[in-house]
Amino acid sequence: MINKILVANRGEIALRVMRSCREMNIKTVAVYSEADRKSMHVRYADEAYHIGPAPSVESYLRIDKIIEAAKRSNADAIHPGYGFLSENAAFADRCEKEGFIFIGPSSFTIATMGDKLTARKTMTGVGVSVVPGTSEELSDENAAHEIAKKIGLPIMIKASAGGGGKGMRLVYKEDEIIDSLRAAKSEAKSAFGNDAIYIEKYIESPHHIEFQILADKHGNVIHLFERECSVQRRHQKVIEETPSPLMNPEIREEMGKAAVAAAKAVNYHGAGTVEFIVDEDLNYYFLEMNTRLQVEHPITERVVGVDLVKEQINIANGQKLTLKQNELRQNGHAIECRIYAEDTDNNFMPSPGKINHITEPLGLGIRHDGYVYEGYEIPLFYDPLISKLIVWAKTRDEAIQRMKRALYAYKITGVKTTIKFLEKIMDVPAFKEGKYNTHFIEDHKKLLLETESYNKQCEDVAIITAFIDYLAKIKSASSNISSVTTSNNWKVVGRRKSITRL
Ligand code: ADP
Repeated sequence: MINKILVANRGEIALRVMRSCREMNIKTVAVYSEADRKSMHVRYADEAYHIGPAPSVESYLRIDKIIEAAKRSNADAIHPGYGFLSENAAFADRCEKEGFIFIGPSSFTIATMGDKLTARKTMTGVGVSVVPGTSEELSDENAAHEIAKKIGLPIMIKASAGGGGKGMRLVYKEDEIIDSLRAAKSEAKSAFGNDAIYIEKYIESPHHIEFQILADKHGNVIHLFERECSVQRRHQKVIEETPSPLMNPEIREEMGKAAVAAAKAVNYHGAGTVEFIVDEDLNYYFLEMNTRLQVEHPITERVVGVDLVKEQINIANGQKLTLKQNELRQNGHAIECRIYAEDTDNNFMPSPGKINHITEPLGLGIRHDGYVYEGYEIPLFYDPLISKLIVWAKTRDEAIQRMKRALYAYKITGVKTTIKFLEKIMDVPAFKEGKYNTHFIEDHKKLLLETESYNKQCEDVAIITAFIDYLAKIKSASSNISSVTTSNNWKVVGRRKSITRL
């Protein structure tokens, strides 16, 4: 039985995992780097262990330090969260060898799915279609031209060990193939220490649609429907929603079955995500499997009504799934916006620093998974994600309106954030109509980014105009001062306030 879990992570996901543990009466252990001494996950946990300096290679990626903390704290299990060591087969292996339950699939599964070429081969073997392309590592540069001719340009050159959009190159022209190939190879080598690359056909106007799966250690596998993740910037997700506006019940059922088959093919256990790329004609192709909890898991939790972390823990404990596929339903609509400390006027540069003020949105249908607080300094060493704002409503239209309301109410000062940028997306007709693909942000760049300075100018003019008006009113109020008694002075003050708030 799991009575104590060490969470090998930080930020919002460490807190997210600990919240479910608390509801299950499971003790929690935090690990933290020097930069995270004052982090919320450290305060929330029952125990906390310092594991090294700020850079993640010296702390959150140090398997030995995490194992040492698990031993010192007498933890029974280790939850890796997402990112860091969550998809590291050696870490999963070491946890099990040291006698800790790894809350995730086996190291074999992680290794199989972590290598995109091996995953492609495995999927093809069980009849799940993959994006047309090479099934072997591309070792001969000259062969690339032949392959491109066969599958047709444009092509995607991808790193087999790839992740986070790294080691990926889109090639439109034949004379760009070799340069792109070399660039992808060297990026893959430095990012992953593995320069194996392969070629995939580039799917035009694609949708990124993924299926959440849960599998126990007794061979039961279910899916919890899809998430539409096509609002992306540089191949990274920005907004996710469920259900997908592109789906129909038939294709949902078919893709759900393919996702379950994918999980069964690698003896999966735990929570996982099968990612597909879907073209305009609803042809779908397996892209990859993420063998961990996803950033965007809360939208599924809200619509399906399941706590995925609790399910992960129960599965790790050896329990059978109690959820039945034919009893699961998608109820209403959920949207998630990722709130980053980034400067949208400056090419989304990270904007670490001290949070001076934060007003979090509240009210019906809102979930806010964050970790920052007033006075907290966002470190520059890690991903600049501040929080995830999730809304739920009965319909998609109402969910969009609710997200607009929540983003409007969400105020953070001290660091630059993506809140305004996300708010603008809610007003773009293509988004409102649910007619968008992975090119959405690029296609609406002008509207989403350049109007920022225009809006700013409008805001400045409005403030100046309001101030002139305010001064004029003060002047006229003071010239009538004899008629203003102390008993009705509040009216003047009240008006002044409303003037300055323009
Ligand atoms: P990573 O593991 O680096 O995140 P993925 O293979 O998951 O890379 O792809 C990330 C994103 O890149 C996808 O969501 C999609 O937008 C785009 N993409 C990847 N492969 C293709 C493809 N063959 N055709 C079109 N877009 C693709």
